[in-house]
Amino acid sequence: MDPKSLREEMVATQLIPRGIKDHRVLDAMRRVPRHLFAGEANLHNAYDDMALSIGEGQTISQPYMVAVMTELLELKGTEKVLEIGTGSGYQGAMLAELAKDVYSIERIAILADRAASRFRSLSYQNIHVRTGDGTLGWPQEAPFDRIIITAAAPKIPEPLLDQLGMNGILVIPVGSSFSQILLKIRKTEKGLIEEHHTPCVFVPLIGEYGWKKDS
Ligand code: SAM
Repeated sequence: MDPKSLREEMVATQLIPRGIKDHRVLDAMRRVPRHLFAGEANLHNAYDDMALSIGEGQTISQPYMVAVMTELLELKGTEKVLEIGTGSGYQGAMLAELAKDVYSIERIAILADRAASRFRSLSYQNIHVRTGDGTLGWPQEAPFDRIIITAAAPKIPEPLLDQLGMNGILVIPVGSSFSQILLKIRKTEKGLIEEHHTPCVFVPLIGEYGWKKDS
């Protein structure tokens, strides 16, 4: 099957039956060429219902998890978004399709460089990538309307909450290094509103406000 048909099938069999409803999210999942982010070694299974290894001990998340996290962000197209954990760049491309500007931080330089070159070759001009510890956020560009963390945190990094604008939404997997719950946090005048969503398993968020490197 060609990539476009594989994406149609992915949406029809993995996303809609599990409750993804946002049409903008579903359409972006139909458009973004996941196989170009998954890497050569995964060409044959890029659209399978699973996370895949992208080298350096890291993964590109399962399509369903990308769709759930993106839907929880409630993007309308005007937002400035911060992503922590660029990885392959696939989630970043989804955000670039659905928001105004995306700032993405990856701690492993080779992954950040690869993702940036994919964005260039696919002509995404509204996504900015840098290498560093994303648990510190990107203070020069704050506040952000939305923040998405695509690695597992022991707790929500304080600098990211500080850099979330009023009425902003932050989505993050929080728990142990073996299993987490996807949290959605909304910042309101009255304080933070926390919702618990699906259980999940992500690679660890390593950094000053995440897990320590060797823990
Ligand atoms: N969003 C990615 C994608 O679409 O391919 C998947 C991300 S992968 C599950 C998690 C990524 O978070 C890894 O690439 C890892 O190196 C990165 N990471 C872990 N701790 C980080 C930190 N403190 N700052 C930035 N990136 C971090």
